[in-house]
Amino acid sequence: MDIMGAKSEELYKKSTEYMPGGVNSPVRSFYAVNRSPIFIDHAVGDKIYDVDGAEYIDYVCSWGPGILGHADKDVLDSVRSAIDKGLTFGAPTEREYEIAKLIQEMVPSMEMLRLVNSGTEATMSAIRVARGYTGKDKIIKFRGCYHGHSDGLLVKAGSGAITGSIPDSLGVPKGYAENTLVAEYNDLESVEELFKNNLGNVAGIIVEPVAANMGIVLPEEGFLQGLRSLADKYDSLLIFDEVITGFRLAPGGAQELFGVKPDLSCFGKIVGGGMPLAVYGGRKDIMKNVAPLGGVYQAGTLAGNPVATAAGLATLKKLQNNSSLYEDINNKTKYLADGIREYFKGRAVINRVGSLMSIFFTKEDVVDYDSVMKCDTGLYAKFFCNVLDKGVYLPPSQYESMFISAAHSYEDIDKTIEIICSGNL
Ligand SMILES: *Cc1c(COP(=O)(O)O)cnc(C)c1O
Repeated sequence: MDIMGAKSEELYKKSTEYMPGGVNSPVRSFYAVNRSPIFIDHAVGDKIYDVDGAEYIDYVCSWGPGILGHADKDVLDSVRSAIDKGLTFGAPTEREYEIAKLIQEMVPSMEMLRLVNSGTEATMSAIRVARGYTGKDKIIKFRGCYHGHSDGLLVKAGSGAITGSIPDSLGVPKGYAENTLVAEYNDLESVEELFKNNLGNVAGIIVEPVAANMGIVLPEEGFLQGLRSLADKYDSLLIFDEVITGFRLAPGGAQELFGVKPDLSCFGKIVGGGMPLAVYGGRKDIMKNVAPLGGVYQAGTLAGNPVATAAGLATLKKLQNNSSLYEDINNKTKYLADGIREYFKGRAVINRVGSLMSIFFTKEDVVDYDSVMKCDTGLYAKFFCNVLDKGVYLPPSQYESMFISAAHSYEDIDKTIEIICSGNL
């Protein structure tokens, strides 16, 4: 192994000359944890290796896609055989039909769907369809929820937008932001008030069914059902942004786990198995408004790309009807959460659902945006750096989820518990 971090440090310095913050997505820069980022060389299973040769147990898993772990053999084989036939055709392929059919089988509400390249595109397009279908302009979103970086959704946004204290991005015209109404997560009254104040003008509610971009905040009992009822009462659509929860909390995502059926849904991350692929879709009568069938325009040169669909299809095939995989990742995550809870008693709280979890540096229960914002981010940064140096790679921000994959071994989780609980604070 080279001098700890020397190569990463050098690459980081050189990269900052060419890319803002030296990175292509803000949180990667480690700016919230006061150190320079590690540059990755490769990853296998539950481990990620930096360019200096250091090994880490990975709890980021590329921010969610890696539910099977890194470099899964079946996914790689599927990609390799796809590559040999050419990278892109700009014309339909059989694999697009296959993955569309498989997604519909796994998530029955996805009666008709479109493949796109990123979660940002999926949510942006779903909202356009909701507006086109209802003829209404306004959208309700929740403070601290993140739905990608399209103009109208970078309002009180989560993820890197909270981490960098820019929930409302510069460069978003006032006219866009005005059509985005902001409610409080887990507060149905705040939603109904917006409906009443904007009677007949709300096209839809977009929500992360489990808020996963301000750390993990679970929906309270009845919250998602309540959103369903309010959407119906005010003749508006319910859009689930399942870019993180989809194919993770259950084969059919959060909508299966919580038993609430949205009108439209968005998927990303896992659906591409590590390649750029995302999906939006839902009720057929709504999706029939998308061109060429209807007047809502949405397109993509690389949409449904043959290599991306090869990775996605291989991944989803391993998840379909695989309740033991979900049981396994959920159990492992519970084991990790239980293993560190005692250590953090009185100093931090742990939220978990399925294979998603967060360690919040606060004494109070974390149930909404306000309680999230009471966390001690300085302490998180210190904790992050301590465990990173000992070989555990956590999300470099208090406001991001940890991800556990099928490739995580109990041996590595035990090692993680030992490192976390060995007096790093
Ligand atoms: C990651 C994420 C997005 C954006 O997806 P990209 O592929 O990064 O554009 C949207 N919604 C949620 C809930 C996400 O976690």
